[in-house]
Formats: sequence, C-alpha cells, structure tokens
Amino acid sequence: MIQFGVATHSGYDWAASAMQRAAKLGATVIHHVEREAIFERDAFRCYLCGTDTSKATSPFDPRSATVDHVVPLSRGGEHTLTNLRCCCLHCNSSKRDVVAA
Ligand SMILES: [Zn+2]
Repeated sequence: MIQFGVATHSGYDWAASAMQRAAKLGATVIHHVEREAIFERDAFRCYLCGTDTSKATSPFDPRSATVDHVVPLSRGGEHTLTNLRCCCLHCNSSKRDVVAA
C-alpha cells in the first residue's frame, strides 16, 4: 500500500482518495485525514526505521515520505489519525501486510 509523492498539481485530493481506498478495503472506521497532518505530527520521521523522510525528493526516492497504516486495513485497521504514521518509501515498500510490532 504505497501512496506516491506529493501531488500538488491537477487537484489530486489525497485525503479523499485515501478514504475511498479505505472503504474498498473494508475499513470499519474512516476519518478524513490530511496527509500533511500526519507528517507534521511525526516530524517527517519514519516510524519504522527512524529515517528523516523528505517531501522534496522524487516519489521514487526510498526516503520520500509516505503514509502507512500501522494495522493494515486488510486486517481490520482503521483509517484514522491514530492508525496512520509517516513512513519512508523503503519501509512502506518492504512492509506489505505485516503488522508492525
Ligand atoms: Zn523507514
């Protein structure tokens, strides 16, 4: 589950599409969460490896900032601020559906 980059062009609404995706995956609780709020709360630090992520890098840079569900939606996780963490692309790509300890 990877959200690429910071799309500021073309009116892409991350929060709205994340909510739609959460609904499709069967999330029981879905809040309107802005990605920027997660990044700022976590100070752009990856909750898995502690890397300082960067929003300025290419979306394909392993250190670029992504948002991850601590408890995956496919395992009953909620799409809420408390279940969302800032995560570097590297960890997000390798984590897949494993529940973080
Ligand atoms: Zn990481």
